Amino acid sequence: MFNSYLLTTLRFDESACTNCGMCLAVCPQGVFVPGKKAVQMAYTARCMECGACQLNCPAGALQVESGVGCASAMFGAALRGKKLDQKEECT
Ligand code: SF4
Ligand code: SF4
Repeated sequence: MFNSYLLTTLRFDESACTNCGMCLAVCPQGVFVPGKKAVQMAYTARCMECGACQLNCPAGALQVESGVGCASAMFGAALRGKKLDQKEECT
């Protein structure tokens, strides 16, 4: 089952992950960290919803609504009551 997170549209099905490491390589924001049986989404709030992980995951373990990252990052930062930091900045 896909996990749900409030900060972004990123969804991760850990049970489907084959631990290939592709998302670690392609994510520009360092959202994932290595895990024993599956990668872990350690920094979900950094996600800018670029879609690279979903495109490159051979197991279909990742889903994200790409193209809404800037709005989501700004909204998330506002909800958390802080300014956008370097990791959440829209470029
Ligand atoms: S959508 Fe982009 S920024 Fe977000 S986790 Fe995937 S590769 Fe990283
Ligand atoms: S690309 Fe997909 S299968 Fe590979 S480690 Fe990442 S989530 Fe798991």
